[in-house]
Amino acid sequence: MAFLSGLEHFVRANEALAPYLWLRIGGPSEYFAEPTHVDDLSLLVERCAEEDMPIRMLGGGSNILARSEGVPGVVIHGSAAAFAEIRVEGQEVVAGGGAKLSHLVSTCVGDGLGGLESLVGIPGTVGGALHGNAGAEGTDIGQCCVEATVMTRTGKILTRTADDLRFSYRKSSLDELVILSARLRLEQEDPAELARRMQKVWIVRRSHQPAREWGTGCVFKDPQGSLAADIIEQVGLKGTRVGGVEVSDVNANFITVGQGATSDDVRRLIDLIRGRVTESLGMDLEVQLEIW
Ligand SMILES: Cc1cc2nc3c(=O)[nH]c(=O)nc-3n(C[C@H](O)[C@H](O)[C@H](O)COP(=O)(O)OP(=O)(O)OC[C@H]3O[C@@H](n4cnc5c(N)ncnc54)[C@H](O)[C@@H]3O)c2cc1C
Repeated sequence: MAFLSGLEHFVRANEALAPYLWLRIGGPSEYFAEPTHVDDLSLLVERCAEEDMPIRMLGGGSNILARSEGVPGVVIHGSAAAFAEIRVEGQEVVAGGGAKLSHLVSTCVGDGLGGLESLVGIPGTVGGALHGNAGAEGTDIGQCCVEATVMTRTGKILTRTADDLRFSYRKSSLDELVILSARLRLEQEDPAELARRMQKVWIVRRSHQPAREWGTGCVFKDPQGSLAADIIEQVGLKGTRVGGVEVSDVNANFITVGQGATSDDVRRLIDLIRGRVTESLGMDLEVQLEIW
């Protein structure tokens, strides 16, 4: 680990990744880094660039499946306080990429700032949500984002302003290695009304998704004009099991992992669903879950 010399206080070798991932399965990462401030982070990124070492950013781990054989290179976990600050400035909020999305949503609702309340219950961090433009109920986080501070794969810090940010369904142009923070512009509204709206979304979400929190994953993107869950149900795969992994019988676009489940089981189940959907309906379902 010569290329990491001087960084040993926040980089570990061969770290189990499963505890950091929503699905709780998968192999270890070759190196795992938990920097506590931005200088450590940029030093690490620069070293990895010099060495051509693969490097990935982990948020809340709710959209990642780690392969059974493990993840080569460095995985960075940006959960330290320095990356998770949330600051309200009038009608704008500046949120760290490592802040929990749930914390951002509740701060906004409590301060009477409307626009993000439909995202209640989406797991993960602000950085993960911006990277994949997370959304629900016709709203997505990108609609509110007016600026982002990012770190490139060479360790350079840049500010991206509204005119060069693009968001579409589960996609964003924020593709640098790290989203350090983002500025979101919201609408002033009555906090009690926002809380009511948020509760309504929460109740609907709870009835349409598996009740368990950990050990679940949302697998496919919804094709335009339809729901992946309906399509999977239509081809008769609700409740289907491969090894220790099962298609949820509450919402067929979710999987739940049980005792002894492996990442290979998940991948086999994904292949089975895609194959059946293509065969029966001539459609190709796009996988939302990122496979590392
Ligand atoms: C039960 C459940 C319900 C879900 N419901 C929804 C839903 O309603 N709507 C929806 O859109 N999604 C949903 N998802 C998917 C998932 O929660 C979102 O994609 C979420 O935004 C991922 O955030 P994360 O922090 O967990 O990212 P991770 O899973 O950790 O990472 C996902 C991607 O984001 C990148 N990333 C993470 N942090 C950063 C950062 N700081 N800078 C740069 N890149 C970063 C990672 O490198 C990776 O490419 C659901 C998932 C589960 C398990």
